[in-house]
Amino acid sequence: MTGLMAGKRGLIMGVANDHSIAWGIAKALAGAGAELAFTYQGEAFGRRLKPLAAQVGSDFMVPCDVEDVASVDAAFAALAERWGSIDFLVHSIGFSDKNELKGRYADTTRENFTRTMVISCFSFTEVARRAAALMPNGGSILTLTYGGSTRVMPNYNVMGVAKAALESSVRYLAADYGAEGIRVNAISAGPVRTLAGAGVTDARLMYNFQKKNAPLKRTVTIEEVGGSALYLLSDLSSGVTGEIHFVDSGYSVMSMPRIDELKA
Ligand code: NAD
Repeated sequence: MTGLMAGKRGLIMGVANDHSIAWGIAKALAGAGAELAFTYQGEAFGRRLKPLAAQVGSDFMVPCDVEDVASVDAAFAALAERWGSIDFLVHSIGFSDKNELKGRYADTTRENFTRTMVISCFSFTEVARRAAALMPNGGSILTLTYGGSTRVMPNYNVMGVAKAALESSVRYLAADYGAEGIRVNAISAGPVRTLAGAGVTDARLMYNFQKKNAPLKRTVTIEEVGGSALYLLSDLSSGVTGEIHFVDSGYSVMSMPRIDELKA
């Protein structure tokens, strides 16, 4: 795959550590020759990101908290100043109060509903608009979603509602930016053990259920998500936009647990 992204530059938002899905994507892109910039949420994350960015040959890191519009503006201004234009954007950001990622969705508070929607959904539209302004020759924009958007997953609650809105945003943004040669897609990843993933109560049970019941009988790695992201961010997928692409060991096609597991 070396060379597939040669001459292309882009921004990765959402590397918290080397378990982050965004890190799997960054490694795949860098391995294919892309030049990368990163955003991080606050100084502590910045300190963790620095050696990782260096590993993929990048010293271009800017702070960005998507709850703060001024911080989003400053991040994209820094990008515009140093590079002028970009070819791709990865939005791998999500948050909800973990106290509401348990129990009933019905008990979600107005405050956490709003905050979850702003960080996990609206931020994508906000950064896509700024990224598109830096893509005069077209480009590719990617976000991360989860199957809890269309089917009920225990404890995923308001995140599922936010992911449904995020997936709808992917389709609307694809329609808005298509004429400019900018493609907008999402990867719907199976459960991965990350900082954000651990916020969902009993995430371990969902992880183990997937291992037993997905067609591939295992979970996916961040490197596998990275491989699919490389396809969606490169010219290999030049005819694809508005798509929600599952990277979940096939779990989403099942309507009930595997029969061999039920009989075991
Ligand atoms: P992660 O904790 O490694 O990454 C989440 C990132 O969101 C972090 O880098 C964090 O700094 C960032 N973030 C949160 N609030 C922010 C804010 N206000 N401003 C800027 N950044 C903020 O976890 P991850 O699992 O790699 O999550 C990345 C994406 O993948 C999320 O959208 C998540 O919902 C999605 N996803 C995760 C799984 C899973 O099982 N882990 C499955 C499918 C989709």
